[in-house]
Amino acid sequence: MSKRDYYDVLGIKKGAAADEIKKAYRTKAKELHPDRNADNPKAEDQFKEANEAYEVLKDADKKAAYDRYGHAAFEGGMGGGGGRPSGFGGGQGDFASAFSDVFDDLFGDMMGGGRGGGGRQRASRGADLRYNLRVTLEDAYAGIQKTIQVPTSVQCGSCTGSGAEGGAEPTTCPTCSGMGKVRATQGFFTVERTCPTCSGLGQTIKNPCKECSGAGRVHKERALSVNIPKGVETGTRIRLAGEGEAGLRGGPPGDLYIFIEVAQHELFERDGVHLHCRVPVSMIVAALGGNIEVPTIDGGRSRVAIPNGSQSGRQMRLRAKGMPALRGAGQGDMFIELAVETPVNLTSRQKDLLREFEDLSEDNNPESKSFFKSVKGFWDSMKG
Ligand SMILES: [Zn+2]
Ligand SMILES: [Zn+2]
Repeated sequence: MSKRDYYDVLGIKKGAAADEIKKAYRTKAKELHPDRNADNPKAEDQFKEANEAYEVLKDADKKAAYDRYGHAAFEGGMGGGGGRPSGFGGGQGDFASAFSDVFDDLFGDMMGGGRGGGGRQRASRGADLRYNLRVTLEDAYAGIQKTIQVPTSVQCGSCTGSGAEGGAEPTTCPTCSGMGKVRATQGFFTVERTCPTCSGLGQTIKNPCKECSGAGRVHKERALSVNIPKGVETGTRIRLAGEGEAGLRGGPPGDLYIFIEVAQHELFERDGVHLHCRVPVSMIVAALGGNIEVPTIDGGRSRVAIPNGSQSGRQMRLRAKGMPALRGAGQGDMFIELAVETPVNLTSRQKDLLREFEDLSEDNNPESKSFFKSVKGFWDSMKG
């Protein structure tokens, strides 16, 4: 199959100027874009042809050779890009990768700098750390200063952070030629990814430091004093800027996040800023009324007046005896729920008194008495 003339392929005159060639090629590339040519099987071949023509004509030397000798100038399989750094994967001549060359060429600036340039990433920011801290409800009420042991990494003393045994200089990464990034094709786009060989550092180490395995930093526990403010809840996050993992080779450190978990309390149940608590009350106090003392979260006790005739389950509110609001004024309330206790282990004297009480109750509460009698009758009939 005879090759078409490169100028014809791009639809321009012989000997056209560089900017004219580029413009024509841009137009062709748009025309032959895979998105517009889903049902044109020839588009791929046409695009390859245009690509090949452009590869030659954009290069002053190749263009001069072509103008002079025609296709004969490149006999022997010249054609594809050339000058492409190794290690990018993707076979030459594959449609997607060919297209990516176009996009490199046309929109290379947008993709983050030229191929040969610097952009070397030596230092990188340390990772953020998460630390789960469990505190008591009392701690959450009052706030507390805690010293925690944070596992973190610090500069390796053995290699002074270089990562190389004996402090030797690291060498340029062969995969990314020191750029720290590699390009890969996805469809017809080129995406830049962090280099997998050097993790974006642009450098590799021949003899990694034994102490740190080449990372330039070692793990260490660090004691850190943390201020836990009043009012924290399970799920509260406290950020300590710059207290995270050390940066890689001089990069800034990450942040430390403390995730609070407030432990269950044996007496109090928390509902936002309010506290709930069940308080046992003797049958006598519940019936006659009286004062009781209830424990509060601040460690003290509060006196509560129980009205006479209180039933089990009655709720009472103690204002401002709940939890403080986090980072703000205000205090929740404490709600107590009365649990009337039935007396047990009665002496025969107490039993007699209660029977006497029962008999007397008929006078001021006859309905209650007859109700219990009917219930008793019901149960007896079930048994019998
Ligand atoms: Zn690399
Ligand atoms: Zn080291």
